Amino acid sequence: MQLIDGNQTAKDIKAEIKQQVEGIIARGGKQPHLAAILVGHDGGSESYVAYKIKDCEAVGFKSSLIRFEDDVTETELLAKIEELNNDDDVDGFIVQLPLPRHIPENNILEAINYKKDVDGFHPVNVGRMVIGLPAFVSATPYGIVELIKRYGIETSGKNCVVVGRSQIVGRPMSVLMSQKEMNATVTVAHSRTKNLKEVCANADILICALGSPEFIKANMVKEGAVVIDVGTTRVPSQETKSGFRLKGDVLFDEVAPKCSYITPVPGGVGPMTRVSLLQNTLLAATKEIYS
Ligand code: NAP
Repeated sequence: MQLIDGNQTAKDIKAEIKQQVEGIIARGGKQPHLAAILVGHDGGSESYVAYKIKDCEAVGFKSSLIRFEDDVTETELLAKIEELNNDDDVDGFIVQLPLPRHIPENNILEAINYKKDVDGFHPVNVGRMVIGLPAFVSATPYGIVELIKRYGIETSGKNCVVVGRSQIVGRPMSVLMSQKEMNATVTVAHSRTKNLKEVCANADILICALGSPEFIKANMVKEGAVVIDVGTTRVPSQETKSGFRLKGDVLFDEVAPKCSYITPVPGGVGPMTRVSLLQNTLLAATKEIYS
């Protein structure tokens, strides 16, 4: 069994990005610039955005944080998005989700110029990804594909089961795995799937993104399978200062001995999600996807 080290892979990618940024600046180019809009004071969102800003600093990007209170109107947010769309210094920007209930998320996401949509949530990017055109791919699936490639894991002709069909993880993940680059035979499972145990046990590559801690047990996993655990659920713990521990969707201790490769939680997919936003921002700055 080989543990897939997302921390180390993300560190390697960050070093590569940093080197590219140094090269851009040495050639007299512009420093890549990521902006983030944060609405309200949700603890989770605050810490995600803080990490994103810190990651930018680590690779030499410029970053801007734009804050609004919970009572911001849709019109005010749309005006800020328009401003960022037209700001030539900003290469890419994100609106941290979730937004307060009174703001329709789709209206906000669709207002972002897709050429600056480094979260890859705009329908143009999703559509282009589905038909195999260059696009910003959302961070978690992008990070998982990168892990699979960097570990040299064979995907062609393999049975891949993705558990979960969310717009940000399961759905795009299943599309990417079935495309010509990866060539897997993909099954998408969800809460209405019958015989989930048998479906999972048929997988050469099992990607778990259901958000149910330790749901995937050893009897659901084929001997020699590659298991990618996306799940991150906070469960109460007396062993940590925060009073919480992150648990994956996979019962790690029981499943790991059966696997050829497995990602841990934490330290697997999570760091790759973070680094993918940096990769997308660099792609936006270097205009490799859209001119
Ligand atoms: P989500 O929107 O809640 O989607 C969960 C999916 O799993 C749904 O499609 C649901 O089916 C399916 N599902 C739930 N329970 C199931 C069950 N018992 N059997 C089969 N399918 C089941 O969640 P998400 O946003 O995709 O996130 C999934 C997990 O990944 C969460 O723990 C989240 O915190 C984590 N996550 C981690 C990262 C990272 O960077 N590590 C990034 C994003 C998300 P239905 O469609 O039928 O409801």
